[in-house]
Amino acid sequence: MSAIAFEAAPAFREESLVLTGRRSGAVWLVRGHRAVRGEASQVEADWRWALEREERRGDVLGFFHTHPPEAGTGPSARDVRTMQAWCGALGKPLLCVIACGEETRSTIFQSDEHAGRSLPITECFGRNVWVIVDTNETEEQP
Ligand SMILES: [Zn+2]
Repeated sequence: MSAIAFEAAPAFREESLVLTGRRSGAVWLVRGHRAVRGEASQVEADWRWALEREERRGDVLGFFHTHPPEAGTGPSARDVRTMQAWCGALGKPLLCVIACGEETRSTIFQSDEHAGRSLPITECFGRNVWVIVDTNETEEQP
């Protein structure tokens, strides 16, 4: 019954994923795991899974979440605080990938004090797979 009601009157709810993968210089290959759906204005990642994964495989690269329409793809003040805390907890740079409507943007946080830097290229390949390129990291400029 509730599923039918949801279909009839879809309400936006934020969604989050833990991103794992590998980085090769300027290119990040990431895959999303452990989808969690939250409320319209907030969603918590599966932080327990993320910590265990990092402990076991060391390949957590960041987090993905959606924003409601018109909120844009830039990290909110709360997102910035959350990402800084994760950088401190995992002790490495992390990606914050945000989707809003058709647009997706990645922001890299270098440390628990870094304010975040937007990366120029985020391409989605199939379900929950992204290639992210940091052109500032490349040797050759176009
Ligand atoms: Zn957000």
